[in-house]
Amino acid sequence: MRRAIIVGIIWVIVIGCFAEAETIKIGLLRRFNDAKSVFVSCTGKFQIADKSGAIVLQSNAGDKISIQVNQSQILLIDTTGNNIAAEPPFCITSCSLDDRIILYQNQNDKGTRYRGKISVLMNKSGILLINELDIEDYLLGVLPCEMPESYHSEALKAQAVAARSYALANRMKHYSQGFSLCDSSDCQIYGGAEVERPKASAAVRDTAGLVAVFNGQVISAQYTGDCGGITAEGRQPYLQSVSDCDDKGIDMCDNPQHTWSAAWNIADFENILKPHYPNLSGIKDIAIERTSAGRPYLVKIKADSGDIEITASKLRMLVGINVVKSTYFTAKIIDGAVILSGRGMGHGVGMCQIGANARAKQGASFEQILKHYYSGIQILPMSDLLNNTNSKSQ
Ligand SMILES: [Zn+2]
Ligand SMILES: [Zn+2]
Repeated sequence: MRRAIIVGIIWVIVIGCFAEAETIKIGLLRRFNDAKSVFVSCTGKFQIADKSGAIVLQSNAGDKISIQVNQSQILLIDTTGNNIAAEPPFCITSCSLDDRIILYQNQNDKGTRYRGKISVLMNKSGILLINELDIEDYLLGVLPCEMPESYHSEALKAQAVAARSYALANRMKHYSQGFSLCDSSDCQIYGGAEVERPKASAAVRDTAGLVAVFNGQVISAQYTGDCGGITAEGRQPYLQSVSDCDDKGIDMCDNPQHTWSAAWNIADFENILKPHYPNLSGIKDIAIERTSAGRPYLVKIKADSGDIEITASKLRMLVGINVVKSTYFTAKIIDGAVILSGRGMGHGVGMCQIGANARAKQGASFEQILKHYYSGIQILPMSDLLNNTNSKSQ
């Protein structure tokens, strides 16, 4: 009896989560974070509601409505310059599903189109825009930003399932800010309807509702540009370090930018680290401790001022992720210079995107690609997940 009640409670929680997950709220931080003004329009008729839900403005296609911060207030100004008396948050909706709301940073830019609706709120330092839309529609604006459309369709499908799984697993990430995910690389880059492309959209549609699941839970499916030949271990059991080589030992993700190298004289290298290690001076040696898979884990720097230990990922952050392009590197000191040489691009955790494309070209399906990079997973429709949980509760 007690078990039935507990399973029932879990079922209610899961049903609740997925009911909410049908739509997702995206904080538009990349272009509009803390903006002092924004202009809104639509490809068709649209309307704006106030805090109470009452429609305060109805507009035609192409009308540009101005929203401005004035001291601690947000003003809504119509096309004739009238200030509309209305209390935020404002909710902007198009009158037809076929139309797209357009947001402009200023009067003259070309604007960015969005599916779904837009909420306009005031935060501490400016305007906060939140785009609420169906999760499948959200993915249409993610895929072209996260994987080149020239990639094989099975790689694009694998990316669609990974992005859908990541979004669902992380839908509470920005909860305290009032939305699920942001539109930057902190979560997944999302460019709205503006970036949609036919081949990427087909990959989303062809995998609609499919997610990667481990132990009955949707996984936080991290992915990386180029793993360097071995993926990095993540924090979850399904994010194990796996080889990304073919049967001849050649990296599947080999490409013209696959290897990189960067050098500093010792004093310059010390200066980069000094904000975090103020006493550091006289670096004599750099040694790297590796995981069993061969990826660097800990960087041990021997110096006259005392030895320091720093994780490979932290060193990458401190030195600069565009210089130390991955966490898969060697380090040495030659003739007074610190030299870091590495392979790959990005954090290296999860699905390797270039490797995924190479596997797809060799005939792998999107399921095979995903199962290679995420250990022990199943690919399931979200509805199956609900049905399984449902039948367990009966
Ligand atoms: Zn984020
Ligand atoms: Zn790879």
